[in-house]
Amino acid sequence: MTRSIVWFRQDLRLADHPALLTAVESSSEVLPLYIHDPAASDKAWPMGSAAKWWLHHALVALDENLQKLGSRLEIRVGSPEKILIDLVQSAQIDAVYWNRRYGPEDRAVDQAIKDKLKQLGVTVKSFNGSLLREPWEVVKGDGEPYRVFTPFWKALERQGLDLPAEPAPSSLPAWKHDGQGVSVDALNLLPKIPWDQGFKDTWAVSESAAHELLESFVSGPIAAYSDHRNLPDRQGTSRLSPYLLFGQISPRQVVQAVRGASPWGLGEGATTFLKEIGWREFAHHLLFHYPKTTNHPLDLRFERFPWLQDPKMLKAWQQGQTGIPIVDAGMRELWHTGWMHNRVRMIVASFLTKNLRHHWLEGARWFFDTLVDADLANNTLGWQWTAGCGADAAPFFRIFNPVLQGEKFDPEGRYVRRWVPELSNIPNAYLHHPWDLPLQHEAKAEITAHYPQPLVDLSLSRLQALEAFKSIK
Ligand code: FAD
Repeated sequence: MTRSIVWFRQDLRLADHPALLTAVESSSEVLPLYIHDPAASDKAWPMGSAAKWWLHHALVALDENLQKLGSRLEIRVGSPEKILIDLVQSAQIDAVYWNRRYGPEDRAVDQAIKDKLKQLGVTVKSFNGSLLREPWEVVKGDGEPYRVFTPFWKALERQGLDLPAEPAPSSLPAWKHDGQGVSVDALNLLPKIPWDQGFKDTWAVSESAAHELLESFVSGPIAAYSDHRNLPDRQGTSRLSPYLLFGQISPRQVVQAVRGASPWGLGEGATTFLKEIGWREFAHHLLFHYPKTTNHPLDLRFERFPWLQDPKMLKAWQQGQTGIPIVDAGMRELWHTGWMHNRVRMIVASFLTKNLRHHWLEGARWFFDTLVDADLANNTLGWQWTAGCGADAAPFFRIFNPVLQGEKFDPEGRYVRRWVPELSNIPNAYLHHPWDLPLQHEAKAEITAHYPQPLVDLSLSRLQALEAFKSIK
């Protein structure tokens, strides 16, 4: 009899799960294990409140799926190292399998555990469960990592994006539990103050929901992705990011579905979409090769940038009360749903780091706490890119004008009206700059009473940001 453990982490699915598949093929008893480590709250980037909400539901869904296969999820609380060693010693485990993680702290933990378990004579194998290619597989001719996306993407394409996605096992050799596990509820992942109604209305958190979303996206919206992906009032993007973060779907499955839906070759929309999956790969490549970038800019000049600190401004930005309609709409969408459209993420990030001149880490931390897709790799890349201090970043002088961005990407104002109802009676011509509404307009009094004046003058703050940038050039 061979007994193995599958240690689930950010791979909360059954299909295309190399660690699970290996365990099923090689063992007569398999323990699907999730470990909740209270000490993880001391990490530099502890899991945020919105992601914890997602995790709760993802664990429930995983357990339900495991039960359908005749097994169930064993949940333990404590130090992963101690729990795994205890289990190995008390339950005669032959092998422990997991899919790899790429954040600096997670890697250190995994390596230490691997070494300890091996010393105990246990087989330990880790797999690639969350990327198309691992960060060390795509490197330049001289072995150095990439810092620019396009050559990285070309190299990734040359290696091939089509990797087999394996089906879920049809049954799981059950494990006799010793009763030490706890329920998902015992992890206290859900908020004590119920601010999560918007999340419940927005998301269905399960492996099957991820596949339904993917299927509906590749059978329709993907064709217009190149045009619609910048329009925040539409379902023009896949909204797969939280499912990818928690591994309820794998990028291999995503690529397979995209190809499957385009048997006669990829259209422009599908090609652009795959490139975005490529940005996710690039973000993980950077996180792996430049682990300090989670807290330090890749462009070190920015360590000297004269950032401002103004708690009132920061709070107004967080609460969607800046007086700039598209910024406020984005920040309120984020608070309500745990997600924000990519175009708007760039606009709010540019506004915070350039017009308000606040450190990109202030924004990154708020996003990390409030996004259901809070991903250390993608979030770091997104913030450094927008602030102009990261790999292949937008140059600092590219300062988004939120009025022009709003007029271009939300011309009818549907997005702003949805999230900033105070502005519903403002005519389109003024919606993205309501401060210009003439005094005699009937809506002027209403908006003056209910909506803040802009936190900063957009033109002046832009010039001040450019001036500040000169000091570090
Ligand atoms: P789609 O357009 O459907 O793209 C499909 C997938 O490709 C996404 O789910 C995501 O996994 C990946 N992807 C798309 N765009 C990017 C990108 N620019 N960088 C890396 N991967 C990308 N994404 C996160 O997943 N987590 C984050 O914490 C995060 N923080 C961000 C912060 C800022 C300031 C910015 C500008 C972007 C951030 N992004 C983050 C990237 C992007 O905004 C989201 O991935 C995207 O909006 C998710 O929506 P979607 O699934 O509909 O994307």
